[in-house]
Amino acid sequence: MRTYDFLIIGAGSAGCNIAHYLQKKGKKIAIADKEGVAGGGSGAAGAFLSPLPGKENLYNTFINNALLFSLKFYEELSPNAIVKKGVLRIANENFDNDKLEKNSIENRYYDSKELQEISHNFNKIEGYFYENAAILNPHEICKKLIEKCDFYQEDIQELVCEDDFYVFENFRAKNIILAQGVIKPLVKTPYMEISPIFGVKIDVKTTTHVPFNIHKSISISANRRDGLVAIGATKERHDTSKMECLTSCEKCDFYVNSEQGQIETLLREANELIKLENLEVAKIYRGARATIKSYFPVIGKAVNYEESLKKYPSIKNGTKIPPDLLEYFPNLYLMNALGSRGFVVAPYLAEFLGENILNNAKIPKELSSEQLFYKRARKNNP
Ligand SMILES: Cc1cc2nc3c(=O)[nH]c(=O)nc-3n(C[C@H](O)[C@H](O)[C@H](O)COP(=O)(O)OP(=O)(O)OC[C@H]3O[C@@H](n4cnc5c(N)ncnc54)[C@H](O)[C@@H]3O)c2cc1C
Repeated sequence: MRTYDFLIIGAGSAGCNIAHYLQKKGKKIAIADKEGVAGGGSGAAGAFLSPLPGKENLYNTFINNALLFSLKFYEELSPNAIVKKGVLRIANENFDNDKLEKNSIENRYYDSKELQEISHNFNKIEGYFYENAAILNPHEICKKLIEKCDFYQEDIQELVCEDDFYVFENFRAKNIILAQGVIKPLVKTPYMEISPIFGVKIDVKTTTHVPFNIHKSISISANRRDGLVAIGATKERHDTSKMECLTSCEKCDFYVNSEQGQIETLLREANELIKLENLEVAKIYRGARATIKSYFPVIGKAVNYEESLKKYPSIKNGTKIPPDLLEYFPNLYLMNALGSRGFVVAPYLAEFLGENILNNAKIPKELSSEQLFYKRARKNNP
């Protein structure tokens, strides 16, 4: 039976990045996914890497630091899987021109005349151009990240721990990292309440040259290396706010019933920005982003919620119990809730989580699974 240091469950942006990080540090890694590599939300991603403008706060500072880190990381990892031509951001209801212009990120304003000089296909729009933005091929990136790990296409149904190892049919692993996206986690983590945001992205053929990415409420990519242009993505919640993903997106009634409308929305909104001539939809992608209320991703050790509260019920009343004393699922870690910018944040998060696992480095509070545990435990104070 093969023995691994780590089994990572989920081969999306999260799982593949942490697999890569730990493998580079000399660990023997297995990674499993029931849908194949990048078969979940990651395969549907734009995957646009864009800055988050606006007055500095904890969240956009995190995103913009992650962006700079990740751009460099991907360019070194797989230069052919990334096209870095910048993004033109157009004001919308969340970002007025003031917010786009006045922030710590360098940008350049283009009026509609200047844009029409670049391409007469631009509609009458104006916007702010940010240089540090790109588009990725998510499948190529994920495959590249795990090329030195063993991949198993398997649906992992349960975790059985025997003699300090998690044991599976064909292999065993000392540690587990759950990077399951919107799928119900294999252990109970009620403090990480994942809510899925579904979406559609399309690749289109067009004879129009698109000089850089354009973003308003949807994004249009510059022409990629394969000549296609990506348009994405819609953001839709199901009718019920809480639901589990029990089937793949292709078979899900939600997509079957609403996909055509979502594609029409993408094409209409794209057409308001730039006229894409001789347009033909080449491919449709469907997926779900895993988000939580705070918007920040979650990384760290998997706290055993029930056992920790059984041991220290006064946590509910605010008693400060240090993290070392909490109960944990043994050798089990979480990396999830990457939200709408999973490819922007994953390499940066992998570094934090990897250093925490290997060298006990501190995880920033806003990303920590333990902080989320305390928050949820205190919220439930009857
Ligand atoms: C339409 C759309 C557009 C997007 N656009 C962008 C973008 O432009 N830029 C950007 O940065 N991000 C974008 N995102 C967000 C990004 O894709 C996600 O944040 C990111 O993919 C999350 O990665 P993940 O690894 O956490 O989840 P996923 O990619 O969903 O991976 C989780 C995987 O775990 C597997 N799994 C779960 N449980 C099990 C089990 N028990 N056994 C085996 N396998 C299991 C699933 O099959 C799945 O493949 C977009 C997302 C969507 C849906």
